[in-house]
Amino acid sequence: MQVTYQTIHLPKRFPLAISRGVHAASNNLFMWLTLNGTTGVGEMSPGKTEGANTAEAAQQSIDVFIQENLDVFDHAKPQPNFVTTVYDLAREQNVPACALAALDIALWDWLGKSSQQSIRQLLSLELPTVPTSVTIGINPPEVVKERVPLLLDGTGVKSLKIKLGSPEGIAADKAMYQQVVESTKPYEVQLRVDANGGWSVTQAEEMMVWIAERGADYIEQPLKEGDEEGLATLFPNRALPVYIDESCRFSEDVTKWRDRIDGVNMKLMKCGGITEALRIIEQANNHHLKTMIGCMGESSISIAAAAQITGLIDHIDLDSHLNLSPDPATGAKIQDGIIVPNDLPGHGAEVKSEFM
Ligand SMILES: [Mg+2]
Repeated sequence: MQVTYQTIHLPKRFPLAISRGVHAASNNLFMWLTLNGTTGVGEMSPGKTEGANTAEAAQQSIDVFIQENLDVFDHAKPQPNFVTTVYDLAREQNVPACALAALDIALWDWLGKSSQQSIRQLLSLELPTVPTSVTIGINPPEVVKERVPLLLDGTGVKSLKIKLGSPEGIAADKAMYQQVVESTKPYEVQLRVDANGGWSVTQAEEMMVWIAERGADYIEQPLKEGDEEGLATLFPNRALPVYIDESCRFSEDVTKWRDRIDGVNMKLMKCGGITEALRIIEQANNHHLKTMIGCMGESSISIAAAAQITGLIDHIDLDSHLNLSPDPATGAKIQDGIIVPNDLPGHGAEVKSEFM
């Protein structure tokens, strides 16, 4: 087997402000894993709560894991249960979720390429029919006014995810949301809100009614991770569906919080890749919950991987590559607002030669 890595700096077109801070760029780790003569490509976008804050930390943890499990990789078989076995071992050995995502994505890409099928074909999944949301970060109304046409004019975008939970409080949230409503009037666009845990229970009670009256489809992560008791208070009289994101990392969290949510938002970086995302979907379906898939600051590599399973998912938020300037990879196309899974073998995405 052979593994190579490359860290690439990804600057954002528009810095993204959420309740916890502003992100203008990230250093993502890309990995190429060759087994039995076939190479899979994976990507990690760093995250403190995803266990690896830097590309270096992620690379080191993947390297240690591979070195300690060489016998497993030496007996690699291009079958889904090999990838699942590696995922479970890596979780047991505490590989950080975002680092594991790079390895898991590379393995699924390898698996597809080994059998000359896309991951979607390998899993016998339908094509997605749901357009992706595009995110607008926390901004003052004057910036919203300028930004909305840039996001919506001629882009085919059909829904906006609005980041609220401003550190300046719910008056600032209302001013921003009101401007989004005004600015999106010329467009046919759905609105949904992600508070990234920026509200208290009292604020969430007020804001959920307020945004529901102003056309929002749903609220995501109204309360911060760790405040799930508060969700039990919000849930019975909720004005709109409640999704969790930060509060749902792995499939076991779906079961844990199922009685106080309408759905879950999974991310490959948060759960460790496609293997666990499929388990989250299965758990959500078992409990009649809705599903959403989101992203961190990921390029077309990780987005193309996530796109492969979107035929199973109710809401799609795979837009981070659209906010990169430039995107170092190709393979995640948007058509009529839908991130279309590539039909090439594996996830179908590649890092552009000038970034190698
Ligand atoms: Mg979110």
